[in-house]
Amino acid sequence: MPIYEFECPKGTVTERWVAMGTESISCPCCQKKAPKIISRFSFELKGGGWFADGYASRRPSGKSSDSR
Ligand SMILES: [Zn+2]
Repeated sequence: MPIYEFECPKGTVTERWVAMGTESISCPCCQKKAPKIISRFSFELKGGGWFADGYASRRPSGKSSDSR
């Protein structure tokens, strides 16, 4: 299950593991409806790690053959 962030009208952000497609939860602090927001953190971790790994594995091989 993915982790999503929800922000209530008061601005409190709650991270919660919910089923995919969950649009909103009730905020634990004020019990109001907190719609889902895009979590930038989890996107950067997944995309950055995947991208950096692919990039790093290509670069050294090209550089070493060039220096010789
Ligand atoms: Zn709240």
